[in-house]
Amino acid sequence: MNVELIHFTPRGEELVEWAGRICYRSHHRMTGDPSKFIEGIVSRGHESVIEHWRALFFVRATEGELLDLLSSVPLLRFSRREKDFLLSGNARMFRQARGPLAEGMRKLLSGASPLLFGNGGNPLQSREPPNEKIVNEWSYFLPAELTGAELSLHGAATFYFKGVSRALTHQLVRHRMASYSQASQRYCNEENFEVVVPPSVEEKGALPLFCRAIAGIRENYRELKESGLKAEDARYLLPNATSSEIAVSMTFEHWANFLALRCDSHAQWEIRNVAHLVKGLLHERLPQSF
Ligand SMILES: Cc1cc2nc3c(=O)[nH]c(=O)nc-3n(C[C@H](O)[C@H](O)[C@H](O)COP(=O)(O)OP(=O)(O)OC[C@H]3O[C@@H](n4cnc5c(N)ncnc54)[C@H](O)[C@@H]3O)c2cc1C
Repeated sequence: MNVELIHFTPRGEELVEWAGRICYRSHHRMTGDPSKFIEGIVSRGHESVIEHWRALFFVRATEGELLDLLSSVPLLRFSRREKDFLLSGNARMFRQARGPLAEGMRKLLSGASPLLFGNGGNPLQSREPPNEKIVNEWSYFLPAELTGAELSLHGAATFYFKGVSRALTHQLVRHRMASYSQASQRYCNEENFEVVVPPSVEEKGALPLFCRAIAGIRENYRELKESGLKAEDARYLLPNATSSEIAVSMTFEHWANFLALRCDSHAQWEIRNVAHLVKGLLHERLPQSF
């Protein structure tokens, strides 16, 4: 058995903290040391945030050793390279994996991320806050050794969507082969929620009606909060138009599936716009694949 760590997400712990903080809209509280935040969020069972962190291994193992590993975590991606294998996955998968191969991998991963796989924190420089575009590139998992089909299978990208509607994010999260971190309506006060207005509302002269309805909901939401209701229950009033923000990580193979479905003319206008923006950014970065 031989295991070699080839690549892991650059500035990955910072990415995990940043994605996790979307849920609470608390980026202003980033200090450059992600340890407290990540330990806290993981201990509360909110482990999906560490799915944005990925690693790629070169593995030489018997079929039995590989089967042990893959049956403990079926979502790991693997491909053959002559007698060896390339194997990739996210931090959550490597933390859950069982068997001697998994042990070997975690040993190597503890050097890559002491916070996620070993003991102790790992202070980092704080990253610039994201800009305010609808679609922002955030992180690429691009092992230099990979091209073509291998890159599509093991490579990945994280995008951050901001100012998109809850209607859009509901469609987005139907793409199951992905990892998400979204602003929480339980933990964030939505008293001044913003909305996405479909262009057709104005085209049909229905903007005054739309705005009146939203103003009514805002008022009622406030009253519910003032009456002592928690945000987690007051949110039941909020409309699909409510603006949200979400980080999404997928392998390139699954981004391609997303683009095929959502750039299509059958897709709804908002998610289609977002898909075209993602496609443009992926094309700039990987013109041969997108
Ligand atoms: C135009 C359009 C209209 C839609 N309308 C509706 C609608 O009216 N109602 C509605 O409920 N949904 C609707 N959807 C959502 C759609 O059914 C899918 O849930 C969504 O597009 C995600 O696609 P996916 O399953 O290919 O992606 P992913 O979930 O990312 O899956 C990627 C691939 O992984 C495999 N896969 C993942 N999970 C499984 C599994 N459990 N079993 C087998 N294979 C799996 C499949 O090969 C799949 O293609 C619509 C989608 C589009 C594009």
